[in-house]
Amino acid sequence: MASVTAITRQIETLDISSGVKTAGNASSGSSARPLHAKPPSQPNASKLLTKYAAPNPFLKAKPAHPPSSLRHPTQIPKPPAYSGTPHATTGDTQTSFDIGLYDGGLEVDNESRGGSVTGEAAETLALDSSISGQYPTREWHLRDFDLGRPLGKGKFGRVYMVRTKCAPKYIVALKTLTKSEIVQFGVEKQIRREIEIQQNLRHPNVLRLYGYFHDETRVFLMLEFAGKGELYRQLSKVGCFSERRSSRYIYQMTDALKYLHSKHVIHRDIKPENLLLGLNGELKIADFGWSVHAPGNRRTTMCGTPDYLPPEMIEGKHHCEKVDHWALGVLTYEFLVGSAPFATPDNDQRSTSPPILCPVLDPTENTSESYRKILKLDYKVPNTVSIEAADLISKLLKSDPEKRIPLADALKHPWILWYRPKASVGQSERTS
Ligand code: AMP
Repeated sequence: MASVTAITRQIETLDISSGVKTAGNASSGSSARPLHAKPPSQPNASKLLTKYAAPNPFLKAKPAHPPSSLRHPTQIPKPPAYSGTPHATTGDTQTSFDIGLYDGGLEVDNESRGGSVTGEAAETLALDSSISGQYPTREWHLRDFDLGRPLGKGKFGRVYMVRTKCAPKYIVALKTLTKSEIVQFGVEKQIRREIEIQQNLRHPNVLRLYGYFHDETRVFLMLEFAGKGELYRQLSKVGCFSERRSSRYIYQMTDALKYLHSKHVIHRDIKPENLLLGLNGELKIADFGWSVHAPGNRRTTMCGTPDYLPPEMIEGKHHCEKVDHWALGVLTYEFLVGSAPFATPDNDQRSTSPPILCPVLDPTENTSESYRKILKLDYKVPNTVSIEAADLISKLLKSDPEKRIPLADALKHPWILWYRPKASVGQSERTS
């Protein structure tokens, strides 16, 4: 009988959007930040995993559309008006996994936030995975899903736990983005870039984007369901993580960043708020809002979150993938200490800062103090932190980007090796 770990590995290599089995590649800082919404309750993992591990039914011999359909949004019949009473989703008898109660939020949002967009913006947001990739895939519509409980709310819409109506009834997180609001914030190109980057990534610690589609007013993203919710919420609950837990997260994070950089993707906004946890508690990088595909590797846009900004971005210099090494150092510190190393006592920037999709271009007094500390490398590691962890932090937080420890070396750092589970040692050796 297959173990949960073995089945999980199968899931990680299963591409439900294209049917292509991919090689399993290797995968607001003050404590004053507000808690997020209630995390998802724990699902029955074995049933969910069995469904995920089922063969892919979605591969098609031919593209679902000619490429010109990119210009025309999928027409979706108007859903029946929401009665106001939450109802269970209508799965058939095979559907043993409970996806919870749908609250009618999509209809409410579409009434209050919807509105079609036109012109170039409409073309940019005509996003449809059935025609975008190398492999022909199934065409998706909202009506193809049983809607379940809300998982959270983002800037541009809600996220729901959903199940595909067709066998074998995959469970995914369906994220909605309201087109008119995307246009209002002028981020349609950024959203498109985020989707294009994420759809090509395959790593156990990078949240999978299985597919996407759109209608007149919304873009829908079919995301891997992160069963244990937000990492940031866990961090807020416990204040800081143990050395062992931090080390294991940082190992996963480092491996994921190494993978991203090998694909010439710089994330540029690593922080706890952008990390989710999978069913087995594994870390998943979940937000690519500020990422960039930069084969040339030199960028000047200042972006990210004040506590995590590296010196070269504050100084407006060119930056490269080494910005993620810096952020990894900040993250390691925050996991172990519970606040970011350069956060000032009254710097509550991360709870009041602009949403992640807005660049940080207007430093306030509070951020200036943080920036001063960052530029002077003015931070102190409390003595509750081990010497080994402090050593890794100091090797990542180097003012000169070129002096930051390479990710391959960080993976072999004693603090990482000491806590690394045996299974992951074998996995990494097989895939490296
Ligand atoms: P976002 O719009 O990505 O910020 O998502 C809003 C909230 O929805 C997050 O803070 C999570 O609580 C939840 N969420 C988003 N994506 C997922 C996912 N793939 N699995 C589980 N929960 C998610």
